[in-house]
Amino acid sequence: MAHRVLATRLAGSLVLAFLVVSCATNPATGGKMLSLVSESQEIQMGQQFSQEVESSMPLVDDAELQAYVEGVGLALAAVSERPDLPWSFRVVDDPVVNAFALPGGPVYVTRGILAHFSSEAEMAAVLGHEIGHITARHSVEQISRAQLAGIGLAVGSILSRDIARYSGLASQGLQVLFLSFGRDDEHESDMLGVRYASRVDYDVRESVTMHEKLDRIGDLSNGGGIPGWLSTHPSSEDRIERLHALVDTIPGLADAKVGRDEYLFHIDDLVYGEDPRQGYFAQSLFLHPDLRFQIRFPDGWQTANLPSVVGGQSPSQDAIVQLTLASDGSGHAEAARAFFSQEGLTSGRVGRERINGLPATLGSFQAQTEQGVLEGIAAFLDHGGLTYRIMGYTVQGRLNNYQNGFLRFIRSFEILTDRAALSVEPMRIELYTLERASSIAEISRRKPSPASEARLAILNGVEETERIPPGSMIKWVVGELPPGTRED
Ligand SMILES: [Zn+2]
Repeated sequence: MAHRVLATRLAGSLVLAFLVVSCATNPATGGKMLSLVSESQEIQMGQQFSQEVESSMPLVDDAELQAYVEGVGLALAAVSERPDLPWSFRVVDDPVVNAFALPGGPVYVTRGILAHFSSEAEMAAVLGHEIGHITARHSVEQISRAQLAGIGLAVGSILSRDIARYSGLASQGLQVLFLSFGRDDEHESDMLGVRYASRVDYDVRESVTMHEKLDRIGDLSNGGGIPGWLSTHPSSEDRIERLHALVDTIPGLADAKVGRDEYLFHIDDLVYGEDPRQGYFAQSLFLHPDLRFQIRFPDGWQTANLPSVVGGQSPSQDAIVQLTLASDGSGHAEAARAFFSQEGLTSGRVGRERINGLPATLGSFQAQTEQGVLEGIAAFLDHGGLTYRIMGYTVQGRLNNYQNGFLRFIRSFEILTDRAALSVEPMRIELYTLERASSIAEISRRKPSPASEARLAILNGVEETERIPPGSMIKWVVGELPPGTRED
């Protein structure tokens, strides 16, 4: 509900903005640009999207790491053309390799991209690039263009287009993450990123290696909720050459800061890959160790585990099941009352029951939505001090086909007691100092890792058979692959 209020307000402010279209000077590049949004609107827009991002994507719970990333980011922003914007730099708890910038100041990096940096200068390259998207107002232009074209921001969806359409899964703020920049914007941000990094005396040759590495990683990522770097930052053939040429013009790089060991110490013990403690699928069974529950999805449905929802879609794409937390902790009866009494929603029979011993309220409904009438069954259930909303819905006239499946799904929710599942742990990055010159392949034989040699080579920015000199600190992935997943 809060999302809808936010989105409506934002849409209102943009409509106003369109009435005062004017041509302004781009603050970072000095060029002329079509300005649809004033700076204060730009800032307000970014703050609103950032609230939505953070309400649906958890931040990495590591104050020291957050402060480190913020410190490096703020130093770069301070030497930009727009030092007075309300800059923020945060690490989101997602295994996907990506970074993104919202209008007017908020910059996010994933823990997935942090695992791939090997120095502070590499991180500065990416933060500087994202700062460039903000100072050159790409982020706000990108959103304005999407609005102007009348396509809204519904350009992508998290599970699939249909699910997003029906469930409102992808909030307006999250949809921003699916907008990609144009190649000209990418070149401009590369150039600005190098400018800021060199002003803070970073070795900008690391920018080139970092962008080469990001191209190499591409969209390799397993199942996170947001797209990867290349899908939002399109690359081009001459990009690396242009970066090389630019960096070659910068003097005094011999003494510039790389900050390799300093950076690596900060990511020691960082969670790597999917975190099974935040829920994982074993075929159709979904287990959540931290919240201590399990629930069985219908066989053969396409499923996805996202930060704020776990959902499934029928093979014929006309039905959805999903589990979310109800918005407040006031209990199943109150949450059900609020849901079934919504405007535009007609409830059928609603009653109390116990689901595997847990108190619940369950009922059927019919809802008028922008996409037509939906019919479904929703249950609200209390477990471990939280209230869950578990529901299934389909298009009008098909509830008879799905009703039994929805009920089986809802009534399969139960307390997780399996000891192995409860004690599952994620993989982590561990630092390792080489005693003698070795290749990734050789180290793998001495120190087996759940990650492939190819992946370890990418993480360390080397080739698999390349010899790494003694005394070097390298990143190693330790632990076990999450249950039910395969090494990519
Ligand atoms: Zn970019």
